[in-house]
Amino acid sequence: MKTEAKYQYLFGPVPSRRLGLSLGVDLNPLKACTENCVFCQVGRTTELTIERKEWVPTAAVLAEFDRWAAAGHRADYVTLSGSGEPTMHTGFGEVLRHVKASGKFRTALLSNGSLMWLPEVRRDAVLADVVKVTLSAWDEESFRKIHRPAPGATFERLLEGERALREEFRGQLWVEVMLLPGYNDAPEQVQAIAELAKSLKADAVHLNTTTRPALAGVEVPRMPEAWLRTVAEWFSPKAEIPVFSGKAAAPETMTDAALIELLARHPIALEALAASSGAEIAALEKRLAPLVAAGNLAIEEHHGVRMVRVTFA
Ligand code: SF4
Repeated sequence: MKTEAKYQYLFGPVPSRRLGLSLGVDLNPLKACTENCVFCQVGRTTELTIERKEWVPTAAVLAEFDRWAAAGHRADYVTLSGSGEPTMHTGFGEVLRHVKASGKFRTALLSNGSLMWLPEVRRDAVLADVVKVTLSAWDEESFRKIHRPAPGATFERLLEGERALREEFRGQLWVEVMLLPGYNDAPEQVQAIAELAKSLKADAVHLNTTTRPALAGVEVPRMPEAWLRTVAEWFSPKAEIPVFSGKAAAPETMTDAALIELLARHPIALEALAASSGAEIAALEKRLAPLVAAGNLAIEEHHGVRMVRVTFA
């Protein structure tokens, strides 16, 4: 079955665990990133580089956003995220300025933090209301093992950049720590990360683990919630384990293209998709069945959770 997406650079709005209803803006082609994380849920990085350029045309992104906003849609946040690291795009500051100028939406930048050592990246990052950076390693070796970065992306630069951002940024700085069994979950490892996280003076720390199937070719098990709750106490401020909030559009009423767009960037638990939109599981399954039959979507069990994701040819 052929489906045609209505928007090329926008996706959602999706119910974000942290931002309520969040309209995603994707500034990267599939899949350009500064890292190739073992836990990546987008897929394997095919363009692994720290090169900054206009990866997709800024003017086209802005035009799409204007069209979306003019249609009277609603979102709590417009969020730069998606298929790779958004700060790789040299126009990401222009996009933030443009959205802000509309006066209707708060803005968020979800970054892996790898380019924050560049002053020009921080100058634009501070335009967002919320900046989330990642800190899941405690030294160069653990950074390389977990994030498999591009040449030039180092742990030293990441930490230096994230600290400099905190000094220059007056908005909400969130730090995400992705905990992965066998990679960074031993007590002394988590404590080392917690020490470094403290030095970032973040407004919030979010502990996370894999909740969706990793698509980067590495099977990473999910961290038991009890361990997340235990180590959350070691962070300052105490780490949060986020829960879904906000209401999604009812999937039964979404077009095939919109569903595929949503799931391409956000594989999601069937139950979470139903709960976030108030849909019955059975009705949702019925809605998705033709797309599964046509090979556009797959529903697969992952650590006891039924996940819906787009199947890439
Ligand atoms: S998890 Fe984020 S930073 Fe890591 S490879 Fe995927 S898109 Fe890039």
